[in-house]
Amino acid sequence: MTSVTAFVEGWDFVQTLGEGAYGEVKLAVNNETQEAVAVKIINLERMPQAEENVRKEVCVHKMLKHDSIIKFYGFRKDENIQYIFLEYASGGELFDRIEPDLGMPEVDASRYFKQLIMGVEYLHERGVTHRDLKPENLLLDDFDNLKISDFGLSTVFRYQGRERLLEKCCGTVPYVAPEVISRKPYHAEPADIWSCGIILVALLAGELPWDEPTYSCQEYCDWKDCKITISPWNKIDTLALSLLRKVLVENASKRRTIEQIKKHQWYNKNFNKHRGASGLQSGSPSDSSCGTRPFKRQCTDQDGDLSRICNSQPELPPMQPRSQLSSLDDLGPAISFSQPLHPDHMVLSQLPCTPGNSQTPMQKLVRRMTRFFVKTDKTETLVELDRACETLGYSARRGSPGFTTISTKDKRAMPLVFKACLMEMGENLLLDFRLSKGDGLEFKRHFMKLRHHMKKVTSRVPPQFPLVPTQQSQPVL
Ligand code: ATP
Repeated sequence: MTSVTAFVEGWDFVQTLGEGAYGEVKLAVNNETQEAVAVKIINLERMPQAEENVRKEVCVHKMLKHDSIIKFYGFRKDENIQYIFLEYASGGELFDRIEPDLGMPEVDASRYFKQLIMGVEYLHERGVTHRDLKPENLLLDDFDNLKISDFGLSTVFRYQGRERLLEKCCGTVPYVAPEVISRKPYHAEPADIWSCGIILVALLAGELPWDEPTYSCQEYCDWKDCKITISPWNKIDTLALSLLRKVLVENASKRRTIEQIKKHQWYNKNFNKHRGASGLQSGSPSDSSCGTRPFKRQCTDQDGDLSRICNSQPELPPMQPRSQLSSLDDLGPAISFSQPLHPDHMVLSQLPCTPGNSQTPMQKLVRRMTRFFVKTDKTETLVELDRACETLGYSARRGSPGFTTISTKDKRAMPLVFKACLMEMGENLLLDFRLSKGDGLEFKRHFMKLRHHMKKVTSRVPPQFPLVPTQQSQPVL
């Protein structure tokens, strides 16, 4: 964990939001105004190689201002610690909204996809390419709006009207375009568009179409051969599939541009008119008895089981209005944070900080589906967690107080690491899981297996859940 020795007076770190290759991202809350920011913390002493990348990330991110892009507030360096201040996305990561092997209702996928395309269009207009678009880098705000984040691999490909070709092979393999791994110079824009196509498959089918877009990968060859009666394509509606056939085109010069995507019939389809009298699409999240975000979706013939619903979602009190999604809206304090009016104060101030544990009682957890309440006490829960990990062949290691680090390999034999944190929420215990390293969809799959193996101890959301802020939503020490 990054050791933070200094921060800004009046601001407390209240929660670790996530971690990446270079450090951690924490939620900082102003203890007077309740303004919230996400702070990316990079320890340059431990990660000297990060300095150049961070410099580039800051340089690119600070020139961006768009509704679909996480706002950049500023940065500062205290000795060897680099802080980057960002808009806080309280809705968590997009992959968390994807039901493994099912995806999400088309109406939601369409909304997220449009917001993504708007953000990418803006980036390209500014001459910037992201180069690592994937659901783990797409965050959601309080209103469930998509925000592109993590500009660690981004670069400028057009400057003063002159475009340069890129050569660096970077990104996340299942999401990268074929030309990026071909080791030949490539155009930036079509490569980002390809990643948007893969994201759309993930949204609509809950799985990625292939491990890599090369001829050594059978699934990719099948797609090239138009074998669309197999998964994931058979789970996708024909209109959406017709868009994908034009986006996931190997030849980058024939791939659809953003302008063309925006004219496609699926992109312009009004899904809302297919919603029922309640204003909700049948099969949409609130239409299910599973709570807010969860949804019920008709499975394909291949699935043959219409009862497979909302597997990965926490059990919640039934039928909340969809606008009030999601799980922890119902659980967290009834106070929400605002974004800072004067973020530059944080950047300029050099005053010492409140490290580690927050003193603020006003807490709000980032919304995540990968969590559940338990009916057991701390000791018993940890025993159950260890037992479930052992059964599933995961390695579980107790780290900083309240945290268990769980490691395994995903189906591509890639490392998958996630953290379980036991938290007191009023009288109740919540077991919260967060991805540390690896693929988001795979993380959800493994979370579901773990939860299944712990079903003896899981409990429904307690009806008396605290609606007033408490100091108790801290990790259990
Ligand atoms: P990577 O290894 O992907 O390059 P990184 O070190 O650049 O990671 P990010 O990907 O930017 O870090 O952030 C890591 C995680 O922290 C994210 O996946 C997300 O869960 C969380 N996070 C990042 N930024 C924010 C934010 N603005 N609001 C809320 N959570 C955030």
